[in-house]
Amino acid sequence: MVRNKKILLVKLEDNYQVYPPYGLMYLASALKSNGYEFEIFHERITRKNLNLLIKKAKDAFVVGFSVTTTPSLMAVLKSSQEIKRKYKTPIIWGGCHATMLPEINLKDKGVDFIIMKEGEESLIQLLKCLESGIEPKDVPGVGYKKKEGIKVNQFTKIIDNLDKYNYDFIWDYLDIKKYLSPRFGKYRRVLPVITSRGCPHDCYFCYNSFMYNRKWRKHNVEFVIKGINRLKEKYNIDGIYYIDDNLFTINDRGFKIIEKIGLPWIAQARADYITEKFAKRARN
Ligand code: SF4
Repeated sequence: MVRNKKILLVKLEDNYQVYPPYGLMYLASALKSNGYEFEIFHERITRKNLNLLIKKAKDAFVVGFSVTTTPSLMAVLKSSQEIKRKYKTPIIWGGCHATMLPEINLKDKGVDFIIMKEGEESLIQLLKCLESGIEPKDVPGVGYKKKEGIKVNQFTKIIDNLDKYNYDFIWDYLDIKKYLSPRFGKYRRVLPVITSRGCPHDCYFCYNSFMYNRKWRKHNVEFVIKGINRLKEKYNIDGIYYIDDNLFTINDRGFKIIEKIGLPWIAQARADYITEKFAKRARN
């Protein structure tokens, strides 16, 4: 059993605007409820931070990177190779980039496993295989190397119940100040928040249908309200940026959350949702 060893979850950022690492927060919630220790390392790419990451990886059982097809990719690749070279720690890549190009990613010597699409369940199953030293041949969405070549298991199961993953307490492991920003003039502590996953539409330029098979899943309204009220009380947030891919999939749900929370807000909406009624409700 390795439950007392930490799983290091990493996201490296090169862009100006840094949102909370919700993907990693969901994974951390799954790890915690399965008895694993975790640490989230979410930092901008600087020499100092990359050195710190290498140090933190020393006592990790595995290191998992959330990987996107952005300029951060080179830093992720080099860090993976360095950790692998120094400590021989298993390296897992997940996220959009790993999902799109599993075989290509696995060809690199710094990548041992990839997890495609939603990782909450696959990661736990993969860790159990690593603990027992068995091949993850039955773990959905996992790719790995075998003597005879690369094997990628089909992803089979989209998560239905998002409320199973309560990431509220994960905030206490992060420095929330990094994610609070001034917006709408006088408000200084606006936090990006997520309340659902996926989108039922199929815009040709969007990752959604490939990643989530056009399945939109939501947290229950009460679940969301409880989480945001906790953020209001504990961290004094004074505005919200709803960063759901499609908050208004069920119009009334999005507005119910906004109205019950009662804080100034920003959200994106698909252009064909904007009716007069929608605009009036958004204005109020
Ligand atoms: S509506 Fe938005 S989130 Fe949905 S598929 Fe189109 S671009 Fe993607």
